[in-house]
Amino acid sequence: MGLNVANCPRCGKVFAQGLHDVCPACVKEIEKEYEACAEFLRENKGTNMHDLSESTGVTIRQITKFIREGRISLMGLPNMGFPCESCGMMIRGGSLCDNCRSNLQKGISAIKGDQDVRERSGTQGPKWNFEIKKRD
Ligand SMILES: [Zn+2]
Ligand SMILES: [Zn+2]
Repeated sequence: MGLNVANCPRCGKVFAQGLHDVCPACVKEIEKEYEACAEFLRENKGTNMHDLSESTGVTIRQITKFIREGRISLMGLPNMGFPCESCGMMIRGGSLCDNCRSNLQKGISAIKGDQDVRERSGTQGPKWNFEIKKRD
C-alpha cells in the first residue's frame, strides 16, 4: 500500500497519483485552458478547431480531450470537430471518420473471411476460383 507515484504525462514531474492522471500543477493549467476555450466558444460559436486552438493557445489534442470528456459539447458549434484518430480528418463523433471506419470494418471482415477459408479447407489452404479482371 502507500502512495501511487507516477510521472505526470503532461510535464514529466513525479507526483502522487490521486483523482487526476496529471500532477496538481497541470490540473490547474488544464482548468485554465478549459476556461479559455469555454470563454472563446461562448463568443465565437462559428469557430473551428484550428481557430480555437490558435486563439487560445490550447493544443488540439487537449481540446479533443475536453470534447471526449464531454466538457465541451459540439451542440451549437456547427464548425467544431476533432481529428479522426487514424487520418486526422475533422469528425464530430466517435473516434474515426466514416472512411476509416469502413476501411477498418473491411479489414476486419477480410481477416475473418480469410480465417473461415483456412478453417474449412483444412491443410490444403485456400483455393481461389475467381480471376481478378482489369476494368476499363
Ligand atoms: Zn504535470
Ligand atoms: Zn479517418
